Amino acid sequence: ISRIRNFSALVQSKALVNGNWIDSSNNDTFDVTNPVNGKKIGSVPNMTVQDAQNAINAAKQAYESKEWRSLTAKDRSNLLKKWHKLIEQHSQQIAEIMTAESGKPINESKGEVLYGNSFVEWFAEEARRIYGEIVPSPVANREIIVMKQPIGVAALITPWNFPLAMITRKAGAALAAGCTVVIKPAEDTPLTALAVAKLAEDAGIPKGVINVVTTNKAAPIGDLFCKSPDVRGISFTGSTQVGKLLFRNAADGIKRVCLELGGNAPFIVFDSANVEKAVDGAMSSKFRNCGQTCVSANRFFVQAGIYDKFVALLKQRVEALKIGDGQSSDIQIGPLINKMQYDKVSGFVEDARSKKAQIVVGGTGLPELGALFYAPTVVTDVPPTAQLYTEEVFGPVVSIIKFKDEAEALQKANDTNRGLAGYFFSENLQQVFRVAKRLEVGMVGVNEGLISAAEAPFGGVKESGVGREGSHHGIDDYVDIKYICMGNL
Ligand code: ADP
Repeated sequence: ISRIRNFSALVQSKALVNGNWIDSSNNDTFDVTNPVNGKKIGSVPNMTVQDAQNAINAAKQAYESKEWRSLTAKDRSNLLKKWHKLIEQHSQQIAEIMTAESGKPINESKGEVLYGNSFVEWFAEEARRIYGEIVPSPVANREIIVMKQPIGVAALITPWNFPLAMITRKAGAALAAGCTVVIKPAEDTPLTALAVAKLAEDAGIPKGVINVVTTNKAAPIGDLFCKSPDVRGISFTGSTQVGKLLFRNAADGIKRVCLELGGNAPFIVFDSANVEKAVDGAMSSKFRNCGQTCVSANRFFVQAGIYDKFVALLKQRVEALKIGDGQSSDIQIGPLINKMQYDKVSGFVEDARSKKAQIVVGGTGLPELGALFYAPTVVTDVPPTAQLYTEEVFGPVVSIIKFKDEAEALQKANDTNRGLAGYFFSENLQQVFRVAKRLEVGMVGVNEGLISAAEAPFGGVKESGVGREGSHHGIDDYVDIKYICMGNL
């Protein structure tokens, strides 16, 4: 409790609809717990479908209101800049909330506040650069004018692994474009979402422009977002399974859909690689947020000539990781987010073990630390039939497969229906270009394990999603292109 007092000023226990901090209409709530020890750290309204409908109505009303419509791009930019400033000023408190509800080590939470806030800054800048076109007409006395207009109300559904950044990456772009939003944050991490919404309110963003609907019954509210004619776009980050469902359901209303779904990132280490750099890259790509990121390396392909050295060095580094309650600044690995994820990670390792993979280090839970802690693990000789190979583990497990040549590495790396991020380490220039072009992914890290930036387009190919977030492309999902033909001039 004393810990909670430290950040209590920003912790909300109500949801935000139309500028009002409210309970759910049936007064139901659900608890938010700390995954380190299962202790309750807060509770939030368990909103109903009717509450979500009210939030959509509020967003629509705000979209059409003078307070929002009459703003210039520069006005919206200024509001986003104020929001950015307030998030910056409260970064310590937000990071503490994030660590408490997600288990993310505090240094990483601080990093996420910086990263998440960089989208608010970026889109504050981009707001002023949503340009149209004047195109030479083929007909005399005519002018072809192309302009970009906001789509209207956007529904944003976000996951727990980046409780702040997944909201700002969507809401920043939406507000810059002139949309209004209804945010449905993940049930595990609603407190970070409400805290940044509070700061948006303090920044002077008009009522109804940002609404936050907390619930632990996402499906019917997701359905409502898909069905409501007043929601013009849905942006979702989360599992491929739920993404497919939303994509299907959004088809009826032909909605704009942006999906950032699961990956199955290959991480290839070629013989020519600098092995120390490759191990550094592997550690940061794999163990950030305890392996719970959709761009985490999922399958490590290591060439025969460098294999033993890579595995030995990686083992040393993994054994040295500090595991525990992320509130201490020396901790590098926290717990998994919930029991479902814990069961999945340990189940995948047991499945690989039963299929003759070798556990080099780890491979067990750490009940002495808490029920959701899993030891950082390295598994070699992972067969293609293992779940560790075919699916995204979303946990602190490195799965290593040996390969002989570049063609084999590429074939195996691309042998998946996912295509979010891919990484490889090579000091051979020709190989760098060949492999970067051939990897079937939306983002490639060459000699680099951490690649996300507000300036760069984030997104996947194949079943990893549609659309791009961040960069100037991130605006596209929130604007319609309108062609105006000026005739008889
Ligand atoms: P994860 O495995 O990351 O928890 P989910 O896809 O289950 O992935 O969750 C991501 C977000 O999607 C969360 O905010 C969650 O509440 C929401 N969600 C889960 N199921 C649905 C659904 N049927 N419709 C809409 N949103 C959903």
